[in-house]
Amino acid sequence: MHAVLARLDLDTQQPGTWLGAWSEDPDAPLITSINPATGEPIAEVRAATVEEYEALMARAVEVADAWRRVPAPRRGEAIRLVGEALRARREDLGALVSLEMGKILAEGVGEVQEAIDIADFAVGQARMLYGKTMHSERPEHRMYEQWHPLGVVGVLTAFNFPVAVWAWNACISAICGNVTVWKPSPKTPLCTVAMQRVCNAALEAGGFPPIFLSFHDAGTSLAKRFVADRRVALVSFTGSTAVGRRVAQVVAARLGRSLLELGGNNAVIVDDSADLELVVPAVLFGAVGTAGQRCTSTRRLLVHAAVADEVEARLAKAYRQVCVGDPLAPNTLMGPLIDEPAVVAFERAVAAARAEGGKVLSGGATLPGPGHFVQPTLVRAWHDWSLLREETFAPILYAVRWEDLDEAIAWQNAVPQGLSSAIFTADVRRAERFLASTGSDCGIANVNIGTSGAEIGGAFGGEKDTGGGREAGSDAWKQYMRRQTTTINWGQTLPLAQGIRFGS
Ligand code: NAD
Repeated sequence: MHAVLARLDLDTQQPGTWLGAWSEDPDAPLITSINPATGEPIAEVRAATVEEYEALMARAVEVADAWRRVPAPRRGEAIRLVGEALRARREDLGALVSLEMGKILAEGVGEVQEAIDIADFAVGQARMLYGKTMHSERPEHRMYEQWHPLGVVGVLTAFNFPVAVWAWNACISAICGNVTVWKPSPKTPLCTVAMQRVCNAALEAGGFPPIFLSFHDAGTSLAKRFVADRRVALVSFTGSTAVGRRVAQVVAARLGRSLLELGGNNAVIVDDSADLELVVPAVLFGAVGTAGQRCTSTRRLLVHAAVADEVEARLAKAYRQVCVGDPLAPNTLMGPLIDEPAVVAFERAVAAARAEGGKVLSGGATLPGPGHFVQPTLVRAWHDWSLLREETFAPILYAVRWEDLDEAIAWQNAVPQGLSSAIFTADVRRAERFLASTGSDCGIANVNIGTSGAEIGGAFGGEKDTGGGREAGSDAWKQYMRRQTTTINWGQTLPLAQGIRFGS
């Protein structure tokens, strides 16, 4: 058994349904958690049965009814305890993320830190669920809006952020007065079990009800049932555009709410005034970090022709120095891809780029097993390749040359996705051109910062095929509540709006 499992009190057989206590059905299917660095099993987690799912949803509705009555600042206290518990287990949980998902330890720990950050944010937000007051057009009337809990929030997460995405949703959802039910990726079930244990133990010790429930699904039948379930007022889905599109249609058909965080296809624009000392590390982190398996990974580098040779040469040199290997080893900069299909997708994309006449400037190969390792890959490409419109979840960066900034911005926007974008420039006019309403069409637009590694304080999400959702900071909390407009007549007459006179 791996040492981190022991440190987190996990063993090699995990019950997988948390209803306030772990429930275990010996007939439930098992999900095997695989270490992507070795291809070996780490542990087995029990998926839920249909009966367990039904019991879980009934419990969620029951707990939500009690939780909505708890004052919001008190709900914030619950999340303060959750944040403290995560702080205490930060390193172990971070190591588990690395072990099961394959991102390097610094990024695994960083992901847990992101969960801590959003918990801190949520504690403050619990005292700031502000509604507006309006001036009524009628005399002796007061008009205002207030925000109420939704009830049960469903969260479906992708494999690549097995801790942080749940935390973004769950912490905000909790202070808004909701119970959160989590259906994680079957590729990272252990992270869910560990997070649930740590967070629920903190809630229980503080005398709070089990507001974080979860179940695992070995296939997709329970996930589909969950998405279609009218008891789930908001479905927050993070994953691929293909699956997210189907989820959105099912939720819309029952007039439910969905919050979608889907695929990205992010570009960095570099102009001829850019500070290359900033460009190279930012692009390297953006394209190679998490082995290119972030929704915000840099996939396209649009570089001014005057500096293109220099930027390509510096990046190719940096790429060759990237240490690929065991994500838990201190010198590793890039771990494995999640599984064999991800390696096949990498190989297909590199072969397609070669077939288009692209020049592979660095990398391009799959590394011999065990584990799902590939080389970080830099390809000189042309802006009109159809390949550039797709999100290949792998460390492949396409470098494209431009001479006119308007054209570069148009190329950047000419993909179906609209998540993150960046420009590197020392020219304030070009920076503002990029940020104008005719500039980047993405949910995130940065200047002299790469596309990945967002802070939780801002609203996170993207446009077009990225789904339009916003999570984390700013006023993203409003999506986890329902707005109620209230007008109070404190006078002794009944004037109607718009001055309407009705009867005598
Ligand atoms: P995925 O779409 O394969 O799976 C996401 C989740 O959906 C998993 O929990 C999966 O079990 C579940 N699922 C699969 N089929 C389903 C169905 N029919 N109904 C309901 N749920 C179903 O995605 P993935 O491979 O785990 O993650 C990678 C993708 O996620 C990439 O496209 C990436 O860009 C995206 N992503 C986006 C963000 C963001 O914030 N925009 C963040 C992380 C990942």
